[in-house]
Amino acid sequence: MARVTLDNISHSYHANPSRDADYVLKNINLSWIDGGAYALLGPSGCGKSTLLNIVSGLLIPTKGQVRFDENDVTRFPPEQRNIAQVFQFPVIYDTLTVFDNLAFPLRNLGLPENSILKRVTEIATMLELESDLSRRSASLAADKKQKISMGRGLVREDVNIIMFDEPLTVIDPELKWKLRSKLKELHQEIKVTMVYVTHDQTEALTFADQVVVMQDGEVIQVGKPEDLFERPLHTFVGHFIGSPGMNILPCDVKDNIALFFGYKLQLEGPILKSTGHCEIGIRPEFIRFGTEGIPAIVQRASDIGQHTLVQTVVNNITVNVIIKGPPPDPGAEVQLCFDPAKTRLYIDRRIATERLQ
Ligand code: ADP
Ligand code: MG
Repeated sequence: MARVTLDNISHSYHANPSRDADYVLKNINLSWIDGGAYALLGPSGCGKSTLLNIVSGLLIPTKGQVRFDENDVTRFPPEQRNIAQVFQFPVIYDTLTVFDNLAFPLRNLGLPENSILKRVTEIATMLELESDLSRRSASLAADKKQKISMGRGLVREDVNIIMFDEPLTVIDPELKWKLRSKLKELHQEIKVTMVYVTHDQTEALTFADQVVVMQDGEVIQVGKPEDLFERPLHTFVGHFIGSPGMNILPCDVKDNIALFFGYKLQLEGPILKSTGHCEIGIRPEFIRFGTEGIPAIVQRASDIGQHTLVQTVVNNITVNVIIKGPPPDPGAEVQLCFDPAKTRLYIDRRIATERLQ
């Protein structure tokens, strides 16, 4: 096992990159400690798979260094890196049985058959594949094949890191939920560094202790799930995480006061900067209906499990509010009260208020 460091990684698929736009990864600096559970989260095309392939050695980055502990492995082929990678679609030997597929990586290491039997049984039990062990893989449905693929990634105990690239894409929703929790349990048991790539916030936030949010080839924020929810450092994170995401509202800053359509807003702390494009970020969960707030009109309400999502408008700008209890009727006039401690100012998309604690 090892600490994985990505030092100023940039990558271009062009032979001779010349402009910023030629790069699909831009100056990535990350450090993954031994035994951590990480997620790479971002929309399709933001560079997640490219980054994983650089860590696994399938790609050599245009610039920068990959280190496992102090060793520069940037140019090492995958087989010299001692890692396991699970892809979006099953990579298994159809002609082999489930058992032999799972045993394959261990037989390659030359382990004795009795240890192989023990480990394969353990992993198969965890993935609920134990009754299929003697079946030929070709006869199985896509989701079982993907479980075998995951099992092949998990079966080795000596790896530096296990990486999953959107592994639950072909799995049906119910099993998805189960496998996600299994993976988390498994991580707690085996304590190997795991990196889980997904565009799905729920998957990332439930699996990882640390989530790396990416957009357009850049790392936007690295943090614990609660940090990303509580205090996004960038409007992209606020918007991307949450259902629905943070309200990002136009505002003006005058004399150190933030104004939303002329209404003064109390912020979490002092304003750090006052030039640039200003926006207010407030999550729907941190707005309530009250008195002496900002007047708004209710547009519609929808039931979202234990809460109600109420869509309101203030001068044509939509403001989502999540409340408990029965919603006001469409057309009703309400007043929006923002929790000051949770009201953030963003300038040029980056947070511009100081945190007071
Ligand atoms: P993600 O996994 O986040 O969806 P990728 O790493 O697959 O993103 O892709 C990042 C960008 O690089 C995308 O714009 C994609 O079109 C481009 N890309 C990916 N693979 C290649 C390739 N082999 N050749 C050229 N461009 C590629
Ligand atoms: Mg991908």
